Amino acid sequence: MIPVMRPLLGEEEALAAAEAVRSGWVAQGPRVREFEEAFAASVGASHGVAVSSCTTGLHLAVHLLGIGPGDEVVVPSLSFIATANAVRYTGATPVFADVEAGTGNISASTVEPVLTERTRAVMVVHQAGVPADVDALKAFCEPRGIAVIEDAACAAGSTYKGKPVGTNALLAAWSFHPRKLLTTGEGGMVTTDDPDWAVRLKRLREHGMSVSAADRHNGGSAVIEQYLETAFNYRMTDIQAAVGLVQLSKLDAIIARRRELAARYHELLADTGLTAVMDPEYGTTNYQSFWVWLPEGADRQEVLAGLAERGVSARRGIMASHLEPAYEGHPCAELPVTEAFTARTLILPLFHDMTESEQDTVVSALSETLHTSRLTVRG
Ligand SMILES: *Cc1c(COP(=O)(O)O)cnc(C)c1O
Repeated sequence: MIPVMRPLLGEEEALAAAEAVRSGWVAQGPRVREFEEAFAASVGASHGVAVSSCTTGLHLAVHLLGIGPGDEVVVPSLSFIATANAVRYTGATPVFADVEAGTGNISASTVEPVLTERTRAVMVVHQAGVPADVDALKAFCEPRGIAVIEDAACAAGSTYKGKPVGTNALLAAWSFHPRKLLTTGEGGMVTTDDPDWAVRLKRLREHGMSVSAADRHNGGSAVIEQYLETAFNYRMTDIQAAVGLVQLSKLDAIIARRRELAARYHELLADTGLTAVMDPEYGTTNYQSFWVWLPEGADRQEVLAGLAERGVSARRGIMASHLEPAYEGHPCAELPVTEAFTARTLILPLFHDMTESEQDTVVSALSETLHTSRLTVRG
């Protein structure tokens, strides 16, 4: 079976994890600090705050801005459900905006119709690595006093206007779950250019402590911490950070290979007439997921089953949060593009070690399946 995704993990990561274990310091410590600095630098941010996941990072970002009950945060429904949930954790209300068909991302024009006087922030997702047009969104939101938070879970190594996604972000949250390009098993990061926010985020992830456990340990003698506010335990471990540092050193190679394979997919798919994810005009995607639009009326379950029969493990497209039971009854505007997107897209296998012959298998399996169900766009 050709998997949809396979993380690139090797002996180097195993050794780095073992070294962290042997060092005797396994909780948040020097390796986390090193990983924070290296990761922040790689995405063009001044500060990185490692956390236990992107979900907890997004929660901290919303919490940091003082958003809570009675406030609204605009999010795409077309996203992993954690985007909307992070808003709910604070007691604020996620408000779903539709997305652009080309990118799968919200934009100033899809956000505008759902703004109210309670809108405090917009959480923009760089969906599956496709950069959102953040400058345009900020130009629209900032004069209205609305903060733009970036859910960059999938976007490590994507670029926007020639710079890494994350450059100039007010607050961006990243994921190191194995489904993303860089993995630490579980893990996340919040990046920002604001030094005061970085300090507060570090406190918020560690029980509100005035001195981190690692600093207290290094400070030796009698450093007594205070608990300055009610906060969380959202720490990353040094074992994870050790793996993350090795992964980060591979990021450029990972992106280069994915973009090469994606270019090859585009060539191979040209004959099928199917539309696939591609770079927007203002940036480049890391192709964290390679989605294709199925022809209208295609039965996606049937296509997935046909692919599975031919040894190809594909996935349904990006989910729409407003259609899940957790959001049943949640007030929401019409989201026609989101609903078409989630119903008609399919994610094809793409991973670092994928061979050209595996890729050929995927495309011929897809063509055959569509042909069998007489769904190809061009005969
Ligand atoms: C994966 C993902 C998340 C959640 O990341 P975790 O690190 O698993 O918490 C959030 N938002 C988006 C858009 C994602 O793809």
